[in-house]
Amino acid sequence: MSTTATRVIALDGPSGSGKSTVARRLAGRLGWRYVDTGAIYRAATLAVLRRGVDLADDEAIAATVAGVRLELSTDPARPTTLLDGEDVSTLIRSPAVTAAVSAVSAVPAVRARLVGLQRELAGQDGAVLEGRDIGTTVVPDAPVKVFLDASPEIRAGRRAGDADTGVTAAEGNLVDRVATDLARRDSLDSSRATSPLVAADDAVHLDSGDLDADAVVERVLGLARAAGLVA
Ligand code: C5P
Repeated sequence: MSTTATRVIALDGPSGSGKSTVARRLAGRLGWRYVDTGAIYRAATLAVLRRGVDLADDEAIAATVAGVRLELSTDPARPTTLLDGEDVSTLIRSPAVTAAVSAVSAVPAVRARLVGLQRELAGQDGAVLEGRDIGTTVVPDAPVKVFLDASPEIRAGRRAGDADTGVTAAEGNLVDRVATDLARRDSLDSSRATSPLVAADDAVHLDSGDLDADAVVERVLGLARAAGLVA
């Protein structure tokens, strides 16, 4: 049994860095909770879009998010996101949500509410949290913090579903479009005033272009053992 007070592995990084795969595998291996914080921001964004709220109106965005019930299953085998009781796990991956999520997640009052929820979901018994600000803001005393990254080309290829197969000319256009969207979101997420996408000073940097997901998992498990977090 670990004596470490906070039983959390914090996994941050930009879109397409492979965080979700690694975080789910880690949580599965350890029998810990898996908290996909991006899914929570996405569900909040879906609520804002459904309400037809102006994305430039921070107050209306905050009021909408304050009035909805967001729930997340933390089982890494079946991560599920509920908005007012409705399973929105698929809807939150739509292009419309992806295009709007950076605007919603930049609103400080939204972050304040959702960070509280994320800490509750982490619980006490062990959790892997993935996001943009886990190591800096959500759980700054996490004993293991990893910042996972890869080149923009690799991340775009992955997001377009082409990482393993290579890219044909037609698919290349898709990858270009995905790359443009990723660059836009990275820039918005990194430049916002409240808890931007930035590596914690004490985070270990890993590159998922050099390491496959299993190798990243093994590296992080090694860090967790060294920190006394797991046996
Ligand atoms: O991880 P994912 O790409 O699903 O995250 C969607 C968006 O949610 C990010 O682009 C970012 O705007 C926001 N996000 C955030 N803080 C987190 C996790 C996600 O601002 N901890």
